[in-house]
Amino acid sequence: MTPGEAHLDLLRRKACAGLCRYYKPEKREDPGCGGVEMLKRRPDLGQALAALPSPGDDGLFSLAEDDPRLLAVCQACEFRIDGCDFRDPEVERAECSPCGGLRAVAWLLSETPELKL
Ligand code: SF4
Repeated sequence: MTPGEAHLDLLRRKACAGLCRYYKPEKREDPGCGGVEMLKRRPDLGQALAALPSPGDDGLFSLAEDDPRLLAVCQACEFRIDGCDFRDPEVERAECSPCGGLRAVAWLLSETPELKL
């Protein structure tokens, strides 16, 4: 496994399998959500991602849903326009969740607020 493949594997285990309500093990989406695609380009964050927790809720680790850093991740996401309930204003918040990629980014930012992404 190359270092890039190992980083992607870690990301899929921690962010997708560990944090995403929409994760389906038999379905590999490529490109992935905005959070996964952003973190794919950041192998330097692998060590931090290895410590990503998997809480039972679907929250954003104390970040606001409209935090501009999170909005920027969603803005670049392939699923935002047609495929993301969380950023669809027509869908009630109680009926949707942020994806694992966005939650992983939120956790990194909550742990290291000065982090530049
Ligand atoms: S919450 Fe939705 S728009 Fe934002 S990164 Fe995840 S799938 Fe994409």
